Amino acid sequence: MKDPDCIFCKIIAGELPSTTIYQDETLTAFRDINPVAPTHILIVPNKHITSNNSFQPEDEAIPGKMFTLVRQLAEQEGIAENGYRLIMNTGPHGGQEVQHMHLHLIGGKKMKYPMG
Ligand code: AMP
Repeated sequence: MKDPDCIFCKIIAGELPSTTIYQDETLTAFRDINPVAPTHILIVPNKHITSNNSFQPEDEAIPGKMFTLVRQLAEQEGIAENGYRLIMNTGPHGGQEVQHMHLHLIGGKKMKYPMG
């Protein structure tokens, strides 16, 4: 399921350039084009899910796989021990800019909650 107008669907399909660091049948992870920290990775479901608001029971395996991948990528990036921040923006008040559900994995510097 792909939205032809979605930039993340195009990245997943290899139709737009990106620094993709992981891909399997469920998820793709690539570096954010505008990083806010030394490590800033976006983990996205390959299936086009607009946001958490359109998340369905049939998609319930996806977050579990996302969290396993977070642990793997955090280790690979060397940020596991010091820690990191996970963010999933939803809708206009959540600051969501790209309408394809995604998890930000941000680390490599000390952060203070909230970011604003
Ligand atoms: P959000 O505000 O949660 O929707 O975050 C969208 C994120 O996607 C932002 O951090 C952008 O910098 C990032 N982004 C937008 N376009 C691209 C792209 N072509 N490649 C990588 N990251 C992107």
